Amino acid sequence: MPLSPQELLYEGKAKRIYRTADPQVYLCQYKDNATAFNAQKRGSIAGKGEVNCTVSSHVLAYLAQQGIPNHFLAQTGPTEMQVRALHILPLEVVVRNRTAGSLCRRLGLEQGLPIEPPLVEFYYKNDALGDPLVTPDHIRLLQLATPEQVERLGSLALAINHHLQAFWRSCRLELVDFKLEFGLDERGEILLADEISPDTCRLWDLGGSEPRVLDKDLFRFDLGDPVAGYQEVLQRVLQAVGSQSPLSLWEKGQD
Ligand code: UDP
Repeated sequence: MPLSPQELLYEGKAKRIYRTADPQVYLCQYKDNATAFNAQKRGSIAGKGEVNCTVSSHVLAYLAQQGIPNHFLAQTGPTEMQVRALHILPLEVVVRNRTAGSLCRRLGLEQGLPIEPPLVEFYYKNDALGDPLVTPDHIRLLQLATPEQVERLGSLALAINHHLQAFWRSCRLELVDFKLEFGLDERGEILLADEISPDTCRLWDLGGSEPRVLDKDLFRFDLGDPVAGYQEVLQRVLQAVGSQSPLSLWEKGQD
């Protein structure tokens, strides 16, 4: 059922979240705005909102099919999806299959080294502190989640990594690392939330002699045309999933 946006609950760097007439359902609108390095670099990537909304819809629908509970309900427009209203935990969970980004900067590691078994890290979502890396003991100290919840987040993150690696492989892309967010439903169950897109995943095409970056690092480090990169990811996802797209279902409903 189409639900119109009501009160704006939250406006972040890349999305707006609205309350709807149904208290169980929020509306999430994706924007073209892009930020990096804790918003020190700001810009816009034309078409990013549509790419991230559509890619996230496919990925979250796929994860639900694989038994990963998540907040996705339906894609209701090119840049709009309905999600379940959750209480979001103030943690970012990062999984790494290869060295890149802050891991290399912090530990002096070369980029692109395989990590086996994959690494799981927790970050405290706090802009003023610059989203610091935290241990399970820090999480307990700050009462951000219980030890049982931290355990569950870690095992969910690894299971999601397993399914996402297969998904991105079907798009001929390697999943280097990614960030997840989770929320609690009214029964206290942990559900995967937020988005899974080229903004939140490092995606490399390893088909050539050099890795080809197809994610937000194009924008962060001026590595190439981010508009073209994001569109290429969308095209690869649409090709991989075939015609069963949440957006095409929405478009049919508009006829
Ligand atoms: N990431 C994200 N949002 C953040 C921080 C990181 O989506 O606020 C993603 C990032 O795109 C990458 C992964 O999490 O896929 C690991 O990021 P990293 O810790 O290496 O930080 P970065 O290099 O992005 O500063």
